[in-house]
Amino acid sequence: MQILITNDDGIHATGLQILAEAASTFGDVLIVAPHEERSACSHAITLHAPLRLLPMHTPAMPQRFAVNGTPTDCAYLGLHEVSPRPVDLLLSGINHGPNLGVDVLYSGTVAAAMEGARAGVRSVAISLNKRTQDPAVWQRTKRAVIQILAWILSQPPLPEGRLLNVNLPVALAEKPSIMITRLGQVVYPPEVDTRRDPKGGAYYWIGGKGPVYGDEPGTDCVVIQEGQISVTPLQLDLTDTPTLQGLRSKRQLDLDAEIPARDRRGEGGA
Ligand code: MN
Repeated sequence: MQILITNDDGIHATGLQILAEAASTFGDVLIVAPHEERSACSHAITLHAPLRLLPMHTPAMPQRFAVNGTPTDCAYLGLHEVSPRPVDLLLSGINHGPNLGVDVLYSGTVAAAMEGARAGVRSVAISLNKRTQDPAVWQRTKRAVIQILAWILSQPPLPEGRLLNVNLPVALAEKPSIMITRLGQVVYPPEVDTRRDPKGGAYYWIGGKGPVYGDEPGTDCVVIQEGQISVTPLQLDLTDTPTLQGLRSKRQLDLDAEIPARDRRGEGGA
């Protein structure tokens, strides 16, 4: 089996190395990863600058390349150029931090797996919910990932345009279960940290402090807090079908009509 591994934390990330070690128990591993951290770059793709492929092979990982691009660039190059044969499985991660709820839309880790799904390849994003350098945590995570991958590979392939988003807690239960979840609620206080540079100009840090997770049962956020493993199926098609059915309309426009004065309905207030 040909396995392609990428991430958004960069070629030197511990999570990438651990994932490569776990995956190598299932097949031939090819690593194509960003040469530096590109977390939270979502599904960005580099179309207006040259991409370079830097061989960074090691005796243990003879197929290891860094790219001066995004996770999506890496998935694309890995799938369509670097891999010596068609890729059977794309793995992205293990991210140094969770990818829960709507945060999947910002995630470079998840985006790389989406790129795999787009190419019709079985694809999985994997994240660990806290940054850690504790070797014991990583070894336990590796053991869990091997069993999660074995379970995934025992399942029938997902329908077209689908992928799996896996989140593991650092505080895994003693005998954790794989729980199939939907995306939960992740809310960040909408803080803007305004600072001053030495010349008095304002600059900003956005994103605020840590998120507040919802407590709806059956969601990824809750399962992680309970020490279990969350597996959420995702789809590339973001169409909201129930709403689409409610909005069905063939209203015809009259582009010669007079432009109305500002309509203040719906603005609230007295
Ligand atoms: Mn990351």
